[in-house]
Amino acid sequence: MRITLFNLSPFLSSDGSRLIAAILKRANHKVTSIYVARLEPLYCSTVELESLDSILKQSDLVMIGVYSTYVSRAIQLTEFIHSRYPGLKVIWGGPHCISAPELSIRYADGVCFSEGDEAVLELVCRMESGADYLNTPNMAFKIDEAMFQNKVLKPFCDLDSLPYYDYEFADQYLLDKTLLAMDREKFRQRISLYPYNKPTLYVLTARGCPHNCSYCNNCRYTALFGHNPIRIQSADRIMDELECTLERLDFVEFLGFGDDDFFARSIEELEDFAGKYKHRIGLPFGIAVSANSFQKKKLEVLLDSGLKIIQMGVQSGSETVLKEVFHRKIKLSKTREAVDQIAFYHERYNLDLLLDFIIDNPYESQDDIIKTYNYILNLPPSVMLNIFFLSFFPGTPIYERALKDGIIEPFTGESFRRYGRNSMKYQKNYETFLIIFSRYLRSNSKRKKIVMALMRALGIRPLRVLSSILPPSLYASLGKSMQIKTHTKMKNTAKA
Ligand code: SF4
Repeated sequence: MRITLFNLSPFLSSDGSRLIAAILKRANHKVTSIYVARLEPLYCSTVELESLDSILKQSDLVMIGVYSTYVSRAIQLTEFIHSRYPGLKVIWGGPHCISAPELSIRYADGVCFSEGDEAVLELVCRMESGADYLNTPNMAFKIDEAMFQNKVLKPFCDLDSLPYYDYEFADQYLLDKTLLAMDREKFRQRISLYPYNKPTLYVLTARGCPHNCSYCNNCRYTALFGHNPIRIQSADRIMDELECTLERLDFVEFLGFGDDDFFARSIEELEDFAGKYKHRIGLPFGIAVSANSFQKKKLEVLLDSGLKIIQMGVQSGSETVLKEVFHRKIKLSKTREAVDQIAFYHERYNLDLLLDFIIDNPYESQDDIIKTYNYILNLPPSVMLNIFFLSFFPGTPIYERALKDGIIEPFTGESFRRYGRNSMKYQKNYETFLIIFSRYLRSNSKRKKIVMALMRALGIRPLRVLSSILPPSLYASLGKSMQIKTHTKMKNTAKA
């Protein structure tokens, strides 16, 4: 079959659509991939949509990888295809469809609501042979205006059997003002990302997470499978694919492992990985870990193989918020212990630590927020911060709760809070502003110790009481200007 596969996320590096393309190609289907790869503008222009004609008119099937953040883009594209090419089926897959199949099926002809490794190929084979495809496992369809959801396959475990992610530029395009053939230079320019702004390739070598955070769509896998088992590729398989991909993308300078918890591996598995990685790949790399699985020994195993940054979630400095709102079973004392042990290696190994926090959460009190602020103030000066504004992804427990409590409206692409447009919505106050300000100062000031002393003074109770007299809109606009300054600096560094 001739399949056109759209990826509407803002990033070009590895994600599920490259794997789906590879799976379909291995079965001799012809796949043309089109990437939008931008944050803004959200919608495609008429010229952009019409430039797709040359490819769409030769397609038997269209697939779209959909993220909740960019669902409006997917709806626009789907409606364009349906009106211009009646009869051409559009199948959606990706995180939004796993989280909210019932919202996705309103627009798509079919939705993959779980892992697509086997289901998508099965669907395409049935369609090609003219067989009944409406009962394909892991797929949902609209029948008589109602959603019919087929049975769920067990979690896919044999990750070593998967083909390599598809980086064959010959049949890939970039949709940016018009349709452009993808090439090495276009790809290279778009993969220099925060925090190092070097050409970075993100890879996934494991699936599953032992946690069930209320804001994360991993909850959906737990709901589907009953649990979300950890599945890990063998070290040899990882190196084989990396060698092959890096031969093609020889400009990549940094590797980011997107596994939810790299330390879900045992010490023996990490030793195997580290030895082979150092010998066969050798590029600096970053990982994400959970404080619960953190062990100093695990860290030390990787230090000599090129580990340069660790990303770890803290999310809030309030145990109450962590437990009752975010459903995270990771104690602050445990996170702090991991922070200190990782920060110890900053000087000697040039190892960075990036901590994630979630702010503007309507279920926090101002005292909860100041706990997060104090947690940040007490971090070692070398620690970098990732500040996220709480997003209510449909299908997650926190979305359902906020909907029931009347805090949010039912999900639409327009009402959803998108990355890059963040401003305070629920917590327009001095305390939230302080967190944003501290992130700005941490990333812009060389005299971090002095800055931290100043920030400590700004957080004292009399000042907080005094600041509550000022209008919330003042803190919202101050926070926004800090955000813009931080993001502008990140973009300028990227250009440089
Ligand atoms: S630890 Fe991270 S990946 Fe795992 S459920 Fe929580 S937010 Fe999701």
